[in-house]
Amino acid sequence: MSNITGRLRDYLQSSHLRLIERASYVVSGRPEKIYLVGGAVRDVLLGITPINLDIVVVHPREEFINYLAEGIDGEVVSRSQFGTFKVVVNSDEIDIATSRREEYARPGALPVVEETSIEEDLGRRDFRVNSMAVSLGQDSWGELLDPHGGEGDLRQKLLKVLHEDSFIDDPTRILRGIRYSERLNFRIDQETYRLLKRDMVYLQDVSGDRIRNELERAMAEPFAWDVLFRGEQEGVLSAIHPGLRFGRIPNPLNIQEQQIVGDNDVVLAALIYFSNDAQMVEVCTRLKIDTRWSRVAREVRSIKSEFGRLGRPDLSRSELFNLLCDLNPDVVHGCAITIQDNAVKSNLWLYLNELRCIRPTIDGDYLLKLGVPEGPQVGELLDRLLHDRLDGLLSSRADEEALVANELKLCRD
Ligand code: ATP
Repeated sequence: MSNITGRLRDYLQSSHLRLIERASYVVSGRPEKIYLVGGAVRDVLLGITPINLDIVVVHPREEFINYLAEGIDGEVVSRSQFGTFKVVVNSDEIDIATSRREEYARPGALPVVEETSIEEDLGRRDFRVNSMAVSLGQDSWGELLDPHGGEGDLRQKLLKVLHEDSFIDDPTRILRGIRYSERLNFRIDQETYRLLKRDMVYLQDVSGDRIRNELERAMAEPFAWDVLFRGEQEGVLSAIHPGLRFGRIPNPLNIQEQQIVGDNDVVLAALIYFSNDAQMVEVCTRLKIDTRWSRVAREVRSIKSEFGRLGRPDLSRSELFNLLCDLNPDVVHGCAITIQDNAVKSNLWLYLNELRCIRPTIDGDYLLKLGVPEGPQVGELLDRLLHDRLDGLLSSRADEEALVANELKLCRD
């Protein structure tokens, strides 16, 4: 059994390292066993600093998690019905799971709680590379448990499920697999790929919340664009709903397009863009869409409904501004990347890069000081200033002051 103490020291954030050392100390001399598991072990072995830590405690009694959380100066902020706890320690959040299994003899019956071993816990995971654990016990600190050959897969940059029915048991693993494959640049093993294709159909049975949750995670990836496009190519998106599609990524992305990295609403707008109105309603129903998704969907629809005007060659800059100014710029951004029509595309970029930032230098206070009465006239004058600025009719402060003076004179006359 190899020991990866050095790697933990080299690749964990110092606050994470302190945290697991502390947890180890809390558990010492007690019957519970404690392990670092899943993605953090995978990342440390790959020489990547993990963002999150997942800890599994074996043989915990009911009150143990609170005891552990207190011992590491943390606070249990949430707990799930599956025996997982979110614990916040300073600004770090860690997931602590108990390796207990709750079995229900029949629906509604009280659960029979069974303790399971760490090996059994690892055997229920999604991919072999995520099925490793590191002991955090004082006398076995740093020992790697790898009962499923995860380390070998890491060396070969391979994603492999643990058994034939893995995707049937939980079809969201299909989305996870695509996400890891793109993020880590790992190949999906041939047999796993066959199973992924075979079992994609079961995605239809997964609840909207769980699918949406996985899509959100895909959209939060630095390579969200690649993950979703891969999902499109493999038919995973259409297996969820035919209205979910994702456009080809311009290759290479230009500077503006690269700015989408990490921006959820930009990617979400692109994801929703290709659905027609009826499909959009169905997608929203299927994914039990939340307010953010429906807001983005509404704004995408509004851009699509203005397509004719947005592509008009005689559209003035202020008209373009008016068509887009009430929309979330991230949504405009997602559409600008996705839209194929060159005239509309370049107008969206013109808005994003230039028009959106234009403001007159004169503000409401200045107008009030000039004696303009509080009320609609202030807004009308400011609008006029903005529009003339956008259309290039005003280019300096002096131009703006002259316009205001002229307007006020006209009013007085
Ligand atoms: P990330 O780096 O994206 O956070 P992670 O590997 O830490 O990835 P989590 O979603 O935080 O992933 O889950 C932690 C671990 O729990 C995974 O590494 C995996 O072992 C296990 N896991 C999570 N989801 C599933 C699932 N649907 N089926 C089986 N095991 C899962």
